[in-house]
Amino acid sequence: MILVIAEQKDGQVNRASWEAIVAAQQTAEPVVVVVAGQGSAAAAADLAAAQVTEVVAIDGPGLAQYTADGFTAAYAQVVAERQPAHVFIAHTYQTRDFAPKLAARLDRSILTDCTAVKAGTPLTFVRPMFQAKLAADVAIEGPAPHFVTFQIGSFKVDELAKGSAPAPVVAVSAAVDIVRQQPDAPFREARQAVDLTQAERIVSVGRGIKAPENIPLAKELADALQAELAASRPICDAGWLPMERQVGSSGQTVAPKLYLALGISGAIQHVVGMKGARTIVAINKDAEAPIFELADYGIAGDIFEVVPQVIAALKA
Ligand SMILES: Cc1cc2nc3c(=O)[nH]c(=O)nc-3n(C[C@H](O)[C@H](O)[C@H](O)COP(=O)(O)OP(=O)(O)OC[C@H]3O[C@@H](n4cnc5c(N)ncnc54)[C@H](O)[C@@H]3O)c2cc1C
Repeated sequence: MILVIAEQKDGQVNRASWEAIVAAQQTAEPVVVVVAGQGSAAAAADLAAAQVTEVVAIDGPGLAQYTADGFTAAYAQVVAERQPAHVFIAHTYQTRDFAPKLAARLDRSILTDCTAVKAGTPLTFVRPMFQAKLAADVAIEGPAPHFVTFQIGSFKVDELAKGSAPAPVVAVSAAVDIVRQQPDAPFREARQAVDLTQAERIVSVGRGIKAPENIPLAKELADALQAELAASRPICDAGWLPMERQVGSSGQTVAPKLYLALGISGAIQHVVGMKGARTIVAINKDAEAPIFELADYGIAGDIFEVVPQVIAALKA
């Protein structure tokens, strides 16, 4: 059995958690989903739509706000009771905070940042290595359960198998002993940053934009598409856009429905952060740029000629 740890905020399940359920469904093992915290009951009701054996909603004193101590104690209890073969978790800001602690608490292995699962005995997991230059097939040794986290964008939510009837939901009250952390406001609110990982459309600018004075052109296109603005690393290093808008191996990993790359060459460190996008459109004046190997649609042209025309067409 595979136990998927889902993440929710105010009762809303995030997309990365649905992706982790899709990963579990690809193994042909029975799947149980667990979700913790205030709002878990509402989240569990949504999660029950998936084709899974059961959904466990876990709440109780000490879980009102997320803390690594509280969530580790709660999930350790469910894992110990259910004894899954694997625990699947999406690799998000929150889970990377508690997942290693949870695995260590239970003295079990954790394999992080995987991009695929291969059915079989044992299950193997694809994990990018050396800045994604290699993709290793990894089988985990040692006693179960094995903990595995998945990169956002590795699985497509529209491949989720839904049940013919809602899965049973079980409410569990967790015994959370000690909570030593006092949580601050969540990352996003604290920094007033965008969460590109949840964006449906992204317009991303690279060095082809030439100068900070030209960023408003990309912003105009983003607004016309109701998209978030993002960038390659040189743009953020130069301070033309804030760091939280950087996509790539040292920035955010995104999985929008549409990723529009303006003057981005397609360096591997950028590509690992956006290759999970559903549709990739690239505009680059170099027809040989590596980004075109990845793009679903490409325009070999000058962004300063093409982008105004696209904006005009969108506004028409
Ligand atoms: C450890 C490490 C971590 C890194 N992490 C990241 C990361 O997280 N994210 C990231 O993005 N990079 C990262 N990098 C940097 C990465 O290697 C590349 O240098 C970077 O992605 C290149 O950005 P770019 O495509 O904007 O610029 P360039 O590679 O310079 O490409 C600019 C492109 O714009 C095109 N162009 C120029 N003018 C026009 C025009 N008028 N119209 C249309 N096209 C035009 C050019 O043909 C070219 O293809 C990292 C590097 C290292 C070593």
